[in-house]
Amino acid sequence: MNLRAVKGMNDILPQEVQRWQQVEAAFRRLAELYGFSEIRTPIVEQTSLFVRSIGEATDVVEKEMYSFQRHDNELTIRPEGTAGAARAYVEHKFFNLEAISRWYYIGPMFRGERPARGRHRQFHQAGAEIYGDPGPVCDADLIAMLIDFYQELGIADLHVLINSLGSKGTRERYRDALLAYLTPLKDRLSEDSQRRLSTNPLRVLDSKAAEDRNICGNAPKILDLLDDEDRRHFDGLQNNLDKLNIKYTVEPRLVRGLDYYTRTLFEIQGSGGELGAQNALCGGGRYDNMVKELGGPAVPAIGFALGIERLLLAMAAKEQPVPATVYLAPLGEQGQAEALVLARELRQRNIRTIVDGRTQKLKTMLHRADASGAQLCAILGDGELERGVVQIKDLKERKQAEVPRDQVVSEIEKTFVEAGLLPLGGGPR
Ligand code: AMP
Repeated sequence: MNLRAVKGMNDILPQEVQRWQQVEAAFRRLAELYGFSEIRTPIVEQTSLFVRSIGEATDVVEKEMYSFQRHDNELTIRPEGTAGAARAYVEHKFFNLEAISRWYYIGPMFRGERPARGRHRQFHQAGAEIYGDPGPVCDADLIAMLIDFYQELGIADLHVLINSLGSKGTRERYRDALLAYLTPLKDRLSEDSQRRLSTNPLRVLDSKAAEDRNICGNAPKILDLLDDEDRRHFDGLQNNLDKLNIKYTVEPRLVRGLDYYTRTLFEIQGSGGELGAQNALCGGGRYDNMVKELGGPAVPAIGFALGIERLLLAMAAKEQPVPATVYLAPLGEQGQAEALVLARELRQRNIRTIVDGRTQKLKTMLHRADASGAQLCAILGDGELERGVVQIKDLKERKQAEVPRDQVVSEIEKTFVEAGLLPLGGGPR
């Protein structure tokens, strides 16, 4: 039997996990700093939630969702996080509890897309949503948070694209204008776009096919159809971004794949590292109608989601330092029991400790100690223990010293402090 992970769904192996944790910790810290609280919603929701919020004629709903039936329910493994969060917002009537809610989430999402570099079937997003604030101040604040986040992780080469889709009326007027422009040119469009023309003409603007891009270059621009209020909103966003010194490009063709957007729409693209064609690091926008459509009152909302896999591709792969670590190498049965005791003493001092229970020749154990990345190895030989001592070997300096058993912990701590090595978590417990 040849059992493998499902295509497009990847293991995140222990040697990669540290970078994931670094990214997640940075996101949590920044989100909290910007006043957001975490929400955790189920990974499985009613299929109708996604159909209603994302929109029937979108790629995600049409062909990418992992849906199944169980106990007479039509269910879907979430393709994104905004719909579930909005469902929870309505279900728990947060609009009665607070005027503005700021939520963030981190977790896996599932879309049956064609796998490629930076495009997976199980991928991970970190996202944030604001309910109850019509913007555009909070729109700019969200974008500022993203810039701070990427910069903290060393990604400087960022390209912010913004657009406005106006409110519902604008979108509809634009749809008509776009149809009037594209329909006579239908035969020159790609096959996919010809299909989209009847289901979701705005998506034609998203197409990457060369023939579509040429035609769309001269298409009417949604920005020309904005009403006064939409225009004021979009101007406000730009003024705020200018004040924050955030560079951006107004991209009238930016429509993004989900149907729920209104007014502000943005995307941040990267270009560094190993990021290839899938250069969209994150996307977001307003969805002022969704809460109402899901059964709540009219509450404006805005959010974004950023892809963690793409972020890791864009980040330079930096060697992660191993935290201060001691490897315990007991050479006999007495040493093994003592190693367990010593390990707990060290861990109580917040020092990462690995006990090697597979007693073998000293040389073999030292080999394993080296491979573990530990800086120090404590050798617990039965004879030495009878004399009340332990050998401590500095694996980098290749120096060894005999230390009385009752001074082992303080001696190890001293060595780490002098070497400037931080214990796990950065400080004593
Ligand atoms: P979306 O939810 O489609 O607005 O996407 C937001 C962000 O999630 C994108 O900018 C990507 O960084 C990431 N993303 C979306 N789909 C995928 C995927 N299939 N694989 C990896 N990352 C993805």
